[in-house]
Amino acid sequence: MNRKFDVIVVGAGASGLTAAIQAARKGARVLILEHMDRAAKKLLATGNGKCNFTNEKQGIAYYNGKNPAFVLPVFEQFGLSETLQFFSELGVYPKNKRDGYYYPASEQAAAMAEVLLMECKRLQIRIAYNIGIREIRRETEGFSFHTKQGIFISACCIIATGGKAAKKTGSDGSGMQYVIGFGHKLTALVPALVQMQGKQSFLKEIAGIRIEGTIRLYIENKTAAQEEGELQLTEFGISGIPAFQVSRCASYGLLEGKGVFADLNFLPKLNAEETNALLTQRFLTYGAGKNAVQALIGLFPFKLIGVLLKEARISPDQPAKNCTQKELAALANVVRALRIEIIGTKGFDHAQVTAGGVETRELNPATMESLLVPGLYFAGEVVDIDGFCGGYNLQWAWSSGAVAGTAAAKAAVGTQRRKP
Ligand SMILES: Cc1cc2nc3c(=O)[nH]c(=O)nc-3n(C[C@H](O)[C@H](O)[C@H](O)COP(=O)(O)OP(=O)(O)OC[C@H]3O[C@@H](n4cnc5c(N)ncnc54)[C@H](O)[C@@H]3O)c2cc1C
Repeated sequence: MNRKFDVIVVGAGASGLTAAIQAARKGARVLILEHMDRAAKKLLATGNGKCNFTNEKQGIAYYNGKNPAFVLPVFEQFGLSETLQFFSELGVYPKNKRDGYYYPASEQAAAMAEVLLMECKRLQIRIAYNIGIREIRRETEGFSFHTKQGIFISACCIIATGGKAAKKTGSDGSGMQYVIGFGHKLTALVPALVQMQGKQSFLKEIAGIRIEGTIRLYIENKTAAQEEGELQLTEFGISGIPAFQVSRCASYGLLEGKGVFADLNFLPKLNAEETNALLTQRFLTYGAGKNAVQALIGLFPFKLIGVLLKEARISPDQPAKNCTQKELAALANVVRALRIEIIGTKGFDHAQVTAGGVETRELNPATMESLLVPGLYFAGEVVDIDGFCGGYNLQWAWSSGAVAGTAAAKAAVGTQRRKP
């Protein structure tokens, strides 16, 4: 068995498979080392099994990390249009759904994994599963990989081992040891795109509600993030896309031991004055014969009404018409900012992505090559870049993988190409 390769990629996820394909297309002999028994397990779980693989809206505003602008030179080389072309050549017909979200027309994440693996096969890329890497060493020339299946050698190495999110899919954080082993620094790793846990006991009463609203996240007393959309209230806290989007800020705040609070606004289209006017109308103008609960029926879900009144200190049985302006102002405040103290997140096991990773200032964004170790490249979630919901994390995986694969192949085999 041949044990010498131009490029060895560690990790057969979204970024690793793309890197391997691009490297092989440039003429490199490529091996992928994967510690699970199959490739792309996380990819299969994406978009609820439908895979939201990119988004027509792009820009650094959708990315986070110490230096989100790091993504720009990467996307200039392999951005949205290159991604759509790459997958359409592999057979994926893209379907553009709400908010610019792209899915494969078959709405099957498995199809995305399958086309990548078919291309790996066509390009004769070897994938060694259940690999059990013990050590990766920098040699005088290239790298040696010491594994349960023996030693492999390569000119270039691409680390595409993902982060720590959803470890049952394979990205269990074990790849971080190689990052540190090569002398790279990691920024703090925290769960992102994850449900947040709240302290308030009323959460049990409103569990199961899905409602349009905004979430404004405060770290200590400063607004750290704000999002609008469908909030999902659960027994333990807050879920849904808006909660996911702000969760990375909550994770970092909690890591630093700061107070983290979320204010939920259930009438985001109205300003304070309009909210007051609406409540006054419902209670005082049309409230005859109704109690406080009945005055809110039709505006908020039943379970939420009780909690809103309790937080505003209004008795549910109180005749609506007897409510004072002061009480209605208090109710308006609660409706616009139901405060939940965030005491945790559901953690890496439930997170879609890891915030933090390899310090981008130690990487060349034109190639994804390490500035510390020549011939070493990084791709995907292992790097300190994380995106918002909407296909941005996979876009980063495809783009950084493609750039790393192309550059590694160029470094390993120069410009002379073998026929793909
Ligand atoms: C439930 C869920 C839904 C998601 N939905 C979306 C979505 O719709 N759109 C979107 O853009 N993003 C989504 N994401 C995020 C997206 O899946 C990831 O950002 C993306 O898969 C990262 O790609 P990657 O190649 O960097 O890492 P991964 O896909 O995690 O791949 C890493 C690979 O490396 C392997 N590996 C790890 N350590 C080692 C080691 N020590 N040795 C050998 N192999 C190793 C792993 O087994 C794995 O195969 C979702 C994530 C989850 C969990």
